[in-house]
Amino acid sequence: MTERSGGPPPLGDMDGAAFRQAGHQLVDWIAQYLEDAEHYPVLSRVRPGDIRDALPSSAPDAGESFDAILADVERVIVPGITHWNHPGFFAYFAISGSGPGILAEFMSAAFNAQGMLWRTSPAVTELEEVALGWLRRLVHLPEAFEGVIYDTASIATLHALAAARQDAVPEVREQGLAGRPDGPGLRVYCSEHAHSSVDKAMIMLGLGLSSLRRIEADTQFRMRPERLAEAISRDRRDGCIPLAVVATVGTTAVTSVDPVGAIADICDRERLWLHVDAAYAGAAAMIPGFEATLDGCDRAASLVINPHKWLFTPFDLSAFYCRRMDRVREAFSVTPSYLQTWDTEPVRNLMDTGVQLGRRFRALKLWMVLRHFGADGMRRRLAEHIRLAALFGRWVDASETFERVAPVPFSVVCFRASPPELREDDSALDDLNARLLDAVNATGDVFLSHARIKNRFTLRLAVGHIRTTERHVARAWELLQEQLTALHA
Ligand SMILES: *Cc1c(COP(=O)(O)O)cnc(C)c1O
Repeated sequence: MTERSGGPPPLGDMDGAAFRQAGHQLVDWIAQYLEDAEHYPVLSRVRPGDIRDALPSSAPDAGESFDAILADVERVIVPGITHWNHPGFFAYFAISGSGPGILAEFMSAAFNAQGMLWRTSPAVTELEEVALGWLRRLVHLPEAFEGVIYDTASIATLHALAAARQDAVPEVREQGLAGRPDGPGLRVYCSEHAHSSVDKAMIMLGLGLSSLRRIEADTQFRMRPERLAEAISRDRRDGCIPLAVVATVGTTAVTSVDPVGAIADICDRERLWLHVDAAYAGAAAMIPGFEATLDGCDRAASLVINPHKWLFTPFDLSAFYCRRMDRVREAFSVTPSYLQTWDTEPVRNLMDTGVQLGRRFRALKLWMVLRHFGADGMRRRLAEHIRLAALFGRWVDASETFERVAPVPFSVVCFRASPPELREDDSALDDLNARLLDAVNATGDVFLSHARIKNRFTLRLAVGHIRTTERHVARAWELLQEQLTALHA
């Protein structure tokens, strides 16, 4: 058959030669981008609507070359990126991917394997088991914890509370909560510093925000177990059914650690589901000297750790561990006839362990990252982050014009400017710190975020980035002092 010149382009995928060329070009582009990450302003400087307005409002009729597309990525998209790859990224939790993680994502897209059933890609199911087993052993959790990968910790906590509900009031699966409008109130407990994902899970599960009891914390931001016990007794007296307690190891603002052992005692006594949110700090348990981070968590019913937060795994990958995965399955397993299988040996079908049917091949990146760096490489990198945060904390402590606002158990420092002459004036200090944060972030060299702690505007420096070194932390400190002097003048 001869080619008709001028006819429509052929059907089918991008041709092999073009794919190879664009692929090599893209890998070179990414390698260069990662090497240059430090030269971009960390925080994107575009205004709302800039990116949208720079692009056509309809898709092109005719296909375009990869060169043209990549040119627009550079021209339009890159300026709209806040560079999480910049080693001066200290905001929120400074999460970063890594070379092996990026390559794994590339490969995972190529396989496009969908792991709903074991047979829809046995390697997706089994590598997930292997990689989560490796991580579980690294953080010293017992074998009784079965693991499953979700996209985020928010979704992991949603599943934990759904399993707790299944455990305590299994009829809700069939009748729903609307089917029992005059039923007893169901109650969940967490500390006042727990993550907002607990609130969202309450909304999503139909338990309602008013069923969440936020328990008071002590001066070190840890849940007070005696207050928890009181709240549970009061609710029982009022005829409510307590379902679960969410304890946090590494709260989002200050990284405090709830007394999980004491909370587990209460949960055992009261027969409540204990879920531990260790999204950020769980990884620390692998560092020599930090093995105690997850003390008491072996008694939890479920626990979540985010490798996308502090283990160099590109977003997203959240590891959910559960002693009672049977409850998760009971809560969610629904198998339509077209998904029934007759495997001769029992297999795990990941679609049974959650809301979603389809599953990305996320395990590949965790496995590749752990293999590439090795357990020792991971431990040394995390330990260095903790060293850098401690160093920054000491600079703050030694300063006349800054003060630390919370302890530094891991790699996050909460602090604020507090020049002696303003020390008595809380609103002036709040205002000064907000302006200082904007000034420092406007330099483009660093990006810090803030939190309200004890009702004070507080700055946060989070170290967690694979390319962050002492030089970058020192630069942040230098900028904070310079900009404070400038603001104060
Ligand atoms: C970051 C964080 C979360 C939410 O993480 P996602 O994976 O983005 O849902 C939940 N809990 C804690 C303690 C966190 O720090």
